[in-house]
Amino acid sequence: MKIHEIGGEFALIDRLRRLAPTSHDDLMTGIGDDAAVIGGNASGQDFLLATTDMLVDTRHFRRDWSTPSQIGTKAVTCNVSDIAAMGGTPTFMFVSIALEKDTEVSWAQELYTGMAEACRQYGIVLAGGDTTSSETNTICITLLGRATASSLCLRSHARPGDLLCVTGPLGGSAAGLKLLTMGVTPPDNIRAKHVTPGCRLDVSSTIAPLAGAMIDISDGLAAEVNHICDRSGTGATIVADQIPLYPSVLDTAALAENDPLAFALSGGEDFELLFSIDPENLKKLAKKRVDATIVGKVTEKEFGRVLILPDGKRTRLSGGYTHFQ
Ligand code: ADP
Ligand code: MG
Repeated sequence: MKIHEIGGEFALIDRLRRLAPTSHDDLMTGIGDDAAVIGGNASGQDFLLATTDMLVDTRHFRRDWSTPSQIGTKAVTCNVSDIAAMGGTPTFMFVSIALEKDTEVSWAQELYTGMAEACRQYGIVLAGGDTTSSETNTICITLLGRATASSLCLRSHARPGDLLCVTGPLGGSAAGLKLLTMGVTPPDNIRAKHVTPGCRLDVSSTIAPLAGAMIDISDGLAAEVNHICDRSGTGATIVADQIPLYPSVLDTAALAENDPLAFALSGGEDFELLFSIDPENLKKLAKKRVDATIVGKVTEKEFGRVLILPDGKRTRLSGGYTHFQ
């Protein structure tokens, strides 16, 4: 049987994880969150966080669209985004690279220059890695971090009655990718959003102590809301009209004859944060001058995962949003 026949990436991970030991007294959260959470707790020490993300040539980046430096920066940033989603602070980084045999040394050096830039920005130290040759350039970063008990945010911490909020406008990266794929030069802002995305470590530590669940938006809003519901055992209702769209997404959607909402719901790599929060705590967050847009709410599980469309119709919130058009 092929992987696509069992339901893709997550169905595969579900099967594979059963083949290995996955529980330990010191492992608070293993597979299923943005990072693993290890230790801490009783001794009052910080939790250790660990996350890993891989970028593969042509699948995650194109060498004709991005400079090696931009690829390096993005590789670090998407890992930092996962640590931010846990309410943590990044610390140490391990970099494994598999490079084509005829790769120029300068290409690898530029890749690391881009990584180093992000490391300095986020206070990360390179602590090791692995190097090999390959048919396809691949960069895999493992990033460690730490979190205190009061700042740790798990995907499982959403409660019915919480509001669901996002830290910024969505769909920009997917819109940029769409135009690049079409061979159209994207406007500067969405090209940058795709090629040199930021992440929200700037606000995550302010949000974390007040939030319930948190996750970074790397696979589209719909997918991330579903991950929170899966782990928290809740339902959720998202209001399409309340989803903030990145500037130029509407124009791109018109040009590409796409539904603009699809870029936000099913696109990827926005690296904003989605979090659940008690309404009282949201007021406290507003006083700390953190911008958050309410996009919906957490409900009891039996209400399911619902998307209220701009015309008021209700539909199932799924990553395959465009199938309902
Ligand atoms: P994210 O989008 O936040 O980077 P992923 O969707 O890549 O997270 O992964 C979801 C969860 O599955 C994470 O906890 C990750 O550690 C785990 N995971 C992904 N791939 C594998 C794998 N091949 N083996 C074990 N765990 C995996
Ligand atoms: Mg993540």
